[in-house]
Amino acid sequence: MSSWTERYAASLMNTFGPPKLALVRGEGAHVWDADGREYVDFLGGIAVNTLGHAHPALVEALSGQVATLGHVSNFFTTPAQVELAERLRELLVPDAEAREGARVFFCSTGAEANEAALKLSRLTGRTRVVAMEDAFHGRTMGSLSLTAKAAYREPFEPLPGHVTWVPFGDVDALRAAVDHETAAVVLEPLQGEAGVNVAPTDYLRAAREITASAGALLWFDEVQSGMGRTGSWLASHPSGVVPDLVTLAKGLGGGMPIGALVGLGRAATMFDPGQHGTTFGGNPLSCATALAVLRTIEDEGLLGRAAVVGDRLRAGLGADDRVVETRGVGVLVGLTLAEAKGPDVVAAAQDAGWIVNATSPERIRLAPPLVVTDDDVAGLLAAWPGILDAAGVAHPGEQP
Ligand SMILES: *Cc1c(COP(=O)(O)O)cnc(C)c1O
Repeated sequence: MSSWTERYAASLMNTFGPPKLALVRGEGAHVWDADGREYVDFLGGIAVNTLGHAHPALVEALSGQVATLGHVSNFFTTPAQVELAERLRELLVPDAEAREGARVFFCSTGAEANEAALKLSRLTGRTRVVAMEDAFHGRTMGSLSLTAKAAYREPFEPLPGHVTWVPFGDVDALRAAVDHETAAVVLEPLQGEAGVNVAPTDYLRAAREITASAGALLWFDEVQSGMGRTGSWLASHPSGVVPDLVTLAKGLGGGMPIGALVGLGRAATMFDPGQHGTTFGGNPLSCATALAVLRTIEDEGLLGRAAVVGDRLRAGLGADDRVVETRGVGVLVGLTLAEAKGPDVVAAAQDAGWIVNATSPERIRLAPPLVVTDDDVAGLLAAWPGILDAAGVAHPGEQP
């Protein structure tokens, strides 16, 4: 371990546990640690580094913007901010009429986008929110109030209230929970932190119908699943379901901190001046970088690429019988192990030069940059059986 990790322990709060590596450089999906060791990063900063590291489009956009105009306050606007909002409306709202009425609020993180949506939902005049039992929406008090997991919540209670949880994917439970006091239903069309769970299309359709008839807002948290990762701009796009609110962050800025709340229909115009705001929201550095991310996804055909690479990873990694199930869409990949040795697999992968992550002892998650190369993918597929061997994952039916 480098001295950086010791200095980290001596000077940073212990919110994340000890860092696994001190990284000093990156290029594409590759990163190098302080000892000069190379890794291929199949976690992508947890679904953030859409274009990997040091992509020329990122370098040009960010350095060009910082050399031209850095931060301005929200007393002012900038071309980058307006263009990004316009671009998000075009890409995320396929229906022309819905797009016309859509409006964007910019902030800096996923939790902050969810805070904005939660506050906005109160302007319906209702306070109840229905959320999913496995959901993850962030760590601030408001976004945490929508997260069911006891270990995350309990030390910080009381949290903002009036939240009801229902099992993800259960239409009857949702129908029973939503009534004319419900302000919003929030769900991740593709749950990331819960271990890569895909909502069936029928469930999204039912959620739309149930919320519409109760006069409640339908809010999709696409902080992890959005911005191309699944092969579509939003994971919910193939369903054709149009929500009232979409929250975004992670992949949008390709590594620059940016979050966004997109409001459609009546949700687009519910905030009045003074009701919400944030200093860094919509700053030109983040917006110019996000614009470059969107442009590059289109120029390099990365939506199609995400779909192809994701299928190849699921097929190749799932071919080992110690992977009993594969999940996800595009390059948000979940692998269920035959034995609950996720942390050992993560450690063995890192020893072999590959970065992956475990969302639970049974489940490995991959969320590589969309620019991950064929060689990177072939390399991981070739290394995978050896990683599972090194982690001591037994083949089903094998004596331990
Ligand atoms: C990561 C994540 C968040 C929180 O985003 P932060 O930027 O960490 O605040 C919220 N929702 C989902 C679905 C996420 O994956």
